[in-house]
Amino acid sequence: MRTKNTAKKRKGMSLSTMLWLGFSLFAVAVVFIFSAVQGVMLYRQYKTRTVSDLRAAGNYVMQELVSDGEWKEERLNYVFYDVLHRYSVNVFLLKEDGTCHYPYISVGFNEEVSVIQEKLRESGGISIVYQQEADVYSYASSLVRKGEVYYVYATRSPQSVGMFFGEIQGRSLTVSILAIVLAFVVSGFISMLLTKSLTEVTQKAKGLASGDYDQRFYDGYHFTEINELSETLDFAREEISKADNMQKELIANVSHDFKTPLTMIKAYASMIQEISGEDPQKRKAHTQVIIDESDRLTALVNDILDISKIRSGVDELKKGVFNLSEYLFGVVAKFDYLAETKGYRLETEIDDELYTLADKEKIGQVLYNLIGNAVNYTGDDKRVTVRLKRSGRVSRLEVVDTGKGIADEELAGIWDRYYRSSETHKRPVKGTGLGLSIVKTVLDRHKFRFGVLSQVGKGSCFWVEFPLPKDDFEVN
Ligand code: ADP
Repeated sequence: MRTKNTAKKRKGMSLSTMLWLGFSLFAVAVVFIFSAVQGVMLYRQYKTRTVSDLRAAGNYVMQELVSDGEWKEERLNYVFYDVLHRYSVNVFLLKEDGTCHYPYISVGFNEEVSVIQEKLRESGGISIVYQQEADVYSYASSLVRKGEVYYVYATRSPQSVGMFFGEIQGRSLTVSILAIVLAFVVSGFISMLLTKSLTEVTQKAKGLASGDYDQRFYDGYHFTEINELSETLDFAREEISKADNMQKELIANVSHDFKTPLTMIKAYASMIQEISGEDPQKRKAHTQVIIDESDRLTALVNDILDISKIRSGVDELKKGVFNLSEYLFGVVAKFDYLAETKGYRLETEIDDELYTLADKEKIGQVLYNLIGNAVNYTGDDKRVTVRLKRSGRVSRLEVVDTGKGIADEELAGIWDRYYRSSETHKRPVKGTGLGLSIVKTVLDRHKFRFGVLSQVGKGSCFWVEFPLPKDDFEVN
């Protein structure tokens, strides 16, 4: 037979890589989008600023030129220097022929002058701000002095755009790189922490799977979810370990309890075969032992089957509404023979007409086991009280005995453990040591509240709360 390669390939990407990559890419994307938006906004702002600076600078120069027509050199020097200083704008006073009247430079402005003339004509006003090239804006206005036309031409050099953006972009590039590096480091750190905790929990869970119940999952991790997970796993570990112990104990004790009746059955059968077969009286006594022991075995097997069926959920609860008061009277009546033959006093304080919604047959097992135990363990006065009273939205059942009670350290165990019947204890009601396990299993499946109050030397009170059915119910 050919065997397949069983080495399992792990599917998917590691959580830490994914987190790290995801977080880092996210940071890069944020930085990228942020820079793009910032660029657009800055450009807009630059444009508006430039236009308003140009207009303010041009108007200022115009005003100065118009208010004092002399145009003395010191005055012009002052005004043009002042305007450059205040608005970072270069202003030229041009003549119609394309020469520059002030400052005294020999560069020809023919092209500019014809553009200015055209723009002013188009606008119909005396001053205008227009876009000269991609990033260059200019201001122009005209005035007449001594019959000659002059143009005030102001512009902001394209280099200033570059300088303006360059500086800001340089700064935001540094910030972006820092942000990205920080994102890489932080996300790396977080994903490392997360993976570390997860790997640790996984490792422990593997230990648990191979039967190591000493694992402690909770270890104060940095993440709430992982803490919750480890707490849940701790709970699961406890439950599994309990179930495992119970199973071991059950097998050990059950096999012990099986052995005794089986030995007896075998011994008595041999005895009948060899000795008492011919003697009708002895034969009868010996076969009776065989019958009794077989009954004990049957009861034990039935109890074990009941528990495992209810626990595994194979046995669905057949819920219905029924008269609990009446039913409880019926169960108590089964113990009447003990009152008659052995002097037990079963006192009842049962309110009439209390109904509940539950699996009647299984609740019957609960009632029978609780009353049976009370009878078995009650004190010398042989008194047992069975009480059923309404209390709010529930009917509270109390089965009270006057026996030796249960010590505190035993209390938790009695529900789960398989208690081997003590040979010395005289029991009027046969028990298999699984009674309370059945009670707990049935009540847990119903989600009913139950418990025991016990005082050593005084007795115990086993209680169960049966919820009343909703108002509109059908009685079975
Ligand atoms: P058993 O067949 O041994 O009674 P149960 O599961 O019904 O098995 O009870 C488990 C154990 O709980 C008993 O062996 C006994 O030690 C204790 N117990 C149960 N009911 C009482 C009670 N009413 N008073 C004192 N001890 C009790």
